[in-house]
Amino acid sequence: MKRVSKMVLTMYLPPAAIALGGIVLSEIVSRSGELIGPRVSFYLAAGIGLVALLTAFVWACSVSWHLYRWTQGREQRCECGGLLSRLRTARDGGHYRKCMSCGARVQTDAVGVTLPPVVPEHAGP
Ligand SMILES: [Zn+2]
Repeated sequence: MKRVSKMVLTMYLPPAAIALGGIVLSEIVSRSGELIGPRVSFYLAAGIGLVALLTAFVWACSVSWHLYRWTQGREQRCECGGLLSRLRTARDGGHYRKCMSCGARVQTDAVGVTLPPVVPEHAGP
């Protein structure tokens, strides 16, 4: 599997899991009508399913938007060409973005702009 395919699959996995989990939970709740009452279980199951599917839809739209911008060259890229994640804070207080393709950490400033790699200074010839 190509790294780009793995990246796309990894990005769409959370919304797919939310949708599937919501459907399964909704089905479980709808079958528990004898415990909590048929009317309550119906509305609860419908609500759970609706919230899960809406959340998954919005998340998938966000992923699609970032992937679209990435294909247009308007998202920050790793050296490997992969899409960079949201801005994260390291334990030492520094900021970085994680490559969604190769998993490398790319150092950034506090606003999220990629910093050039640190080159060690040579003492001389
Ligand atoms: Zn990368």
